[in-house]
Amino acid sequence: MDIHTANCPKCGSVFRQNLRNLCNTCIQEENLFYDRCSNYLWKHPATHTRQLSEATGTPMDLLTDWVRAGKFPTTYSQLDYPCESCHSPIYAGRLCHSCLGTFRMAALEIQTRVPRRTATGLFSIAGRAKGY
Ligand SMILES: [Zn+2]
Ligand SMILES: [Zn+2]
Repeated sequence: MDIHTANCPKCGSVFRQNLRNLCNTCIQEENLFYDRCSNYLWKHPATHTRQLSEATGTPMDLLTDWVRAGKFPTTYSQLDYPCESCHSPIYAGRLCHSCLGTFRMAALEIQTRVPRRTATGLFSIAGRAKGY
């Protein structure tokens, strides 16, 4: 079997691997959705992601991926996507403000409170477990 072929993660059909990691049918389908979204946004620049999904029939997963990856111009400032921790809507970065705060606190606590011995002990256990 040719190493450059794979099963499309979306529809399962065998295709030649490409940068998008999708078969041509699925790429075309995504492009159609993308065009529809672009058109809709052009007319309704203040659309939220959920509204856009409903108006264009684009799956939310796909849409949030696009928004997160910055596929739409930033002029459409109401396009939100979920915080990776609590799923509340955000417009930039990976975490919302409250989660960022919590994570910073937690990171600080780990740095200051956990004694070095515990940390290295955990690492060596993990290392040994890997060997067996
Ligand atoms: Zn496919
Ligand atoms: Zn959050």
